[in-house]
Amino acid sequence: INNVIKLRESVMVLSALEYDDLTGLYIRQAFFHHAKTLMRFNTNQDFHVVVADIKNFKWINGTYGEKTGDQVLTYLGDTYRNQVRYGTVGRYGGDQFVAIIYGKKEIRMADMEKFIHRVESGAPIPNLVVNYGVYENVDKTLPFTLICDRAFLAMKSIRDDYEHQIAFYDDEMRKRHIRNGQMENAFVEAIRNEEFVVYLQPKYSVETEEIVGAEALVRWKKADGTIVSPGDFIPVFESNGFIIRLDYYVWDQVCQFIKNNLAHRGDSEVISVNVSRVNLYNPDFLESLVNLVEKYKIPPKYLNLELTESAFSDDARMIQNAVDYLHKAGFTILMDDFGSGYSSLNVLKDIDIDVLKIDMRFLSKGSSEERGEKILEAVIKMAKSLDMLVIAEGVEEEKQVKMLKRLGCDYIQGYYFAKPMPKKDYVKLLQKSR
Ligand code: C2E
Ligand code: CA
Ligand code: CA
Repeated sequence: INNVIKLRESVMVLSALEYDDLTGLYIRQAFFHHAKTLMRFNTNQDFHVVVADIKNFKWINGTYGEKTGDQVLTYLGDTYRNQVRYGTVGRYGGDQFVAIIYGKKEIRMADMEKFIHRVESGAPIPNLVVNYGVYENVDKTLPFTLICDRAFLAMKSIRDDYEHQIAFYDDEMRKRHIRNGQMENAFVEAIRNEEFVVYLQPKYSVETEEIVGAEALVRWKKADGTIVSPGDFIPVFESNGFIIRLDYYVWDQVCQFIKNNLAHRGDSEVISVNVSRVNLYNPDFLESLVNLVEKYKIPPKYLNLELTESAFSDDARMIQNAVDYLHKAGFTILMDDFGSGYSSLNVLKDIDIDVLKIDMRFLSKGSSEERGEKILEAVIKMAKSLDMLVIAEGVEEEKQVKMLKRLGCDYIQGYYFAKPMPKKDYVKLLQKSR
């Protein structure tokens, strides 16, 4: 009998450990256990997992006090528990909740929106915002932690603009997730095996139609020969920070190329490299760039830096300082993709840019072509009055070349003259045109 009592006591202690003190919901591990059991006993049902995360919970604690923070958590816990009829709810940890639901064919966006609205308007504080990630019809063969990861992955795709609060995990997200994971794994190997190759796209003088320099554009040449374009991997490496190493690798290659030219011909064209916006937040960026040109002993005037326009809207003050520093070090700064963002004109007032790079692909074709030309004309005039040079990129047609000549544009880059090419082809082209 004593043993039976002991056993009962320990079962009671165990089950008390399953619950979160504050909300009374299952703690994460217990939730996993019960969710798995539910799935095992309801094999012919569809299951959905929903995760929730309170936006700015730290701020709520700081502003209203921890007691109110706790009230918000209990309120949400109670609400979710009452809402989920078939399934179960857990506190995932901190300000995150998780629920598994069955007995429904699907989770309808409209229902979710109504529910969210109801939850938030009944909350103990005004302006409570909770983000949700939904993984519908879960793949029951997956480990349960992975199932939850997918719902969280969906949730993390929600942007910070308060416009959306729900995101569904879908097939495309899954594929992207897998692809990005593979790419991250392959990066270190690829750098070591020199799979990243620098292509050069020539830039032409409008006046003489001669090559005056080039832009360095990176390509990923996989071991099996396939070439991946930067549009596919740069966003991935920008989001995990690898771009800092990749950018540096490209600059290093370009410096070697310039050094080679100087050694053989006593001169070189100017080569521009792209600087990711991520680098602007890298505390070593300025120093590593200056050290690089010193290492190869090349005058910095041969290396131009392309900064995309959208980076300028981030933190004008900080970018201004960076640009000043780079100018003092002897570099030339181009504003890339001018006209693609919204900040252009304001930024020109505050930041000292040397060259404006206008992408012709941003100018609309067809009926508004004439208006496009007028805008281009005004932009070029403005640039001139601010002592900036102008380069047009994405130039594909003779008609555009003629127009740019008429409007006083200084340089042209685009398929009309040449596509990006391996370094040795660029050198050949250069020799032929001399
Ligand atoms: P971007 O800096 O605006 O580079 C210009 C892109 O336009 C290049 O694409 C180039 O191949 C393409 N292009 C040039 N002329 C024409 C044309 O006449 N017509 C059309 N349709 N396209 C043209 P690419 O090489 O695919 O590069 C895409 C973007 O990836 C670049 O845009 C740049 O933002 C980024 N990128 C490339 N290399 C690097 C790098 O080493 N570091 C960083 N941070 N970004 C890079
Ligand atoms: Ca560029
Ligand atoms: Ca560009």
